[in-house]
Amino acid sequence: GRPGGPMSSESVRVVVRARPLNDREKAVSSEVVLSMDPQHRQCFIRRPGAEDEPPKQFTFDGTYSGEHSTEQLYNETVCPLVEGVTEGYNGTIFAYGQTGSGKSFTMQGVSEPDAQRGVIPRAFEHIFESIQCAENTKFLVRACYLEIYNEEIRDLLGNNIKQRLELKEHPERGVHVRDLSMHSVHSVGECERIMERGCRNRAVGSTLMNKDSSRSHSIFTLHLEICRTDSSGRDHLRAGKLNLVDLAGSERQSKTGATGERLREATKINLSLSALGNVISALVDGRSKFIPYRDSKLTRLLQDSLGGNTRTLMIACLSPAGSNYEESLSTLRYANRAK
Ligand code: ADP
Repeated sequence: GRPGGPMSSESVRVVVRARPLNDREKAVSSEVVLSMDPQHRQCFIRRPGAEDEPPKQFTFDGTYSGEHSTEQLYNETVCPLVEGVTEGYNGTIFAYGQTGSGKSFTMQGVSEPDAQRGVIPRAFEHIFESIQCAENTKFLVRACYLEIYNEEIRDLLGNNIKQRLELKEHPERGVHVRDLSMHSVHSVGECERIMERGCRNRAVGSTLMNKDSSRSHSIFTLHLEICRTDSSGRDHLRAGKLNLVDLAGSERQSKTGATGERLREATKINLSLSALGNVISALVDGRSKFIPYRDSKLTRLLQDSLGGNTRTLMIACLSPAGSNYEESLSTLRYANRAK
């Protein structure tokens, strides 16, 4: 990261995005309990069947509903963060929400219509366009991709998906994952292919180890080394990185009646999501001297990419349906704490 970055008050931004009702919800004439006032960046949620109760109200850095496209969300909230990465700041983007709320739709996206292409392909394009346009500047871009499952770290781009990697703390390099593979990338296409390879490995690993990949977190990181040559021929080195974090579904696992191995796994998902919430809220609060990074692998790994000179964006995804009221309310509360 680069010193003298953005002010901490604006370094964490939280936006919410509600998907439209799906066909199944429409077929049963599901009640819509969410509404947005994008102009005032407010989100309202009403208890299903409680027409006379006032709705609960939340304010965020941005609110998006079914009519809004990923293009709009990208231009308004993601673009400045990715721009910062090309200038040598760190940036971290999280998608948070229950399974089925639109995390992949927002991050990976769909190819048609163009306005709904995901945040990830847009970020790749943005970075390589900036690289092409930059004058007197050379870039080295490398990617790595890991998964955290049950507090164990695995390399999604390595040779052995079953191998557990260790987290190491180095006095100068900070926290890093030993033996994590790094891959040079030179184009949007290469970035996309390497990400696809990681996703495939994630699926293969899930099958091999009999686990559900929606219960793991993954972090795809692009490391940029930036070398600018000034008019007197001197080189200036900077480094920025972009973390794209795909979080496990936030649905409360206790409700699913899990036992044994599944319950232990569920407890760990809840633990790392709440550790992340605690870190972000301590950062946003600004008064806490102690930031509890050490409470989970996820927050330890992202220690140098949360707070400080990092720009962090959380996209909290929501289902508008009455049947998801409890989960949506808990997502809104989580997101609200983070801002
Ligand atoms: P998650 O990754 O959180 O489990 P998905 O991204 O898979 O959820 O979304 C669930 C379903 O809802 C998918 O069929 C997806 O295409 C659809 N969907 C999500 N968000 C939107 C949106 N903003 N507009 C239209 N369809 C959406």
